[in-house]
Amino acid sequence: MLKMKATCEKCNASTAPKETAYICSFECTFCQSCTTDMAGVCPNCSGELVIRPKRLKNPLDVAKSQLKSKLFGR
Ligand SMILES: [Zn+2]
Ligand SMILES: [Zn+2]
Repeated sequence: MLKMKATCEKCNASTAPKETAYICSFECTFCQSCTTDMAGVCPNCSGELVIRPKRLKNPLDVAKSQLKSKLFGR
């Protein structure tokens, strides 16, 4: 499961699960303004930063629905 880091690694701004944030493949997490400043390139690994999917439900609820669809199919 993707780690949802709650702060920007550069400026410590909030990047809570429901807020817009950018991540690289190593899950380095940055806020929108830092990402713009860095031209979308991760300073740690030189990888590209992409918008992080928002997480609106808590992981337990999602695990339950995933299990349900596995057990009962479509
Ligand atoms: Zn930032
Ligand atoms: Zn990185």
